[in-house]
Order: sequence, then structure tokens, then C-alpha cells
Amino acid sequence: MPVPIFCVNCGLPHTEESNCKNYIPLLALSTYSDGIRKFIIKLKFHNYRPLGKLFGRFLAHRFCERIENLSPDYLTFIPNHKNSARTFSHTEDIAIGLGEKIGIPVSDCLEWKFSIAHQIGKTGAEREELASDSLRVTDEANIVGKKFILIDDVYTTGSTARAGIQALKNAGAECLAIMVVAKQIS
Ligand SMILES: [Zn+2]
Repeated sequence: MPVPIFCVNCGLPHTEESNCKNYIPLLALSTYSDGIRKFIIKLKFHNYRPLGKLFGRFLAHRFCERIENLSPDYLTFIPNHKNSARTFSHTEDIAIGLGEKIGIPVSDCLEWKFSIAHQIGKTGAEREELASDSLRVTDEANIVGKKFILIDDVYTTGSTARAGIQALKNAGAECLAIMVVAKQIS
């Protein structure tokens, strides 16, 4: 099911005439339905790795015109958590599949500041607060002034996406859009 494009910063749906000053669109391939959930779980937890690039190619097909208009310098992605047992980054694979299709390089430039254990014992509000400052850029010198599209697998509250936007901004770069495979509809 197609997801209407809306702003990651203010949460409002946006049209061409919209005038949000901090407009960053969320471009999602699908809602987080049972069908797509099954494939994301296969990719993330059952190491069905080819699905990553495939999702990237679907995103390219669906949003190629919009990406061309935004004209980013790089794609980047939300990285695995520090203590993750995963052997590969599925979000990087999604970005690579997308980048190959549209001819835009992928920059592995974000990292988590803390391990997940750091969040244990925190309330929901505290976690949200922590989340806004939880990512950083690893290679600041090379990304100053560059424009990015940030890739993730699933969009739920948007706190991870906003942490990525903030990390890029702190390093002097700009996030033009968030792209995800699926958006959770509450
Ligand atoms: Zn907005």
C-alpha cells in the first residue's frame, strides 16, 4: 500500500505548496503490513541477505524522479547497534541496492554513540531524549557541506531518523530526505 509523503520534522502531510521551514520528506515503499514484515524479518534476523539490495532497487524504481530532483551527494544509512550480533548491515545493503540503480555513492558515515545496554532502566521519555543525540558522524572532514539521503528499514516513531538528521547537521552536512522500506501506521 503506498504511503502518503509527510514531513519527518512536523509530522504533517506535505504538498508542493507546503511551507514548513524544516521540511524533510519521509519516502516509504510500503506500510508495515504483515506481508512486508515477513520479508524484513527474513532480511534482518534470518540473514536472507539478497533482500537488502532488492528493497533498494524497489526504492529506486518508486522514487527515482524525486531523488533526481533532490540531487544528493551521498546516500547513508542507520548503522547496526554497537553490540549487535549481526554479521552485516542490512540497511547498508538497502542503500547499496538503491545507489547502484541511481548512480549515487553510499557513505558509511554514521555510528551509535552508546550501546543498547545504555538504555536499560530508562523511561520512554528518557529514551526518546537520549535517542535525539544518539548518533554521530565518523568522518566529519569529508562530509561538511554535503547533501544526504538517509536510509533505514522501518520508520516507527521517527526518533532514529531525527537522530540521523541531527548528527549530519552537527557535522555541517544536510539531510534532504529519509527513505525506508516500511512505515508503521499507528
Ligand atoms: Zn514539516
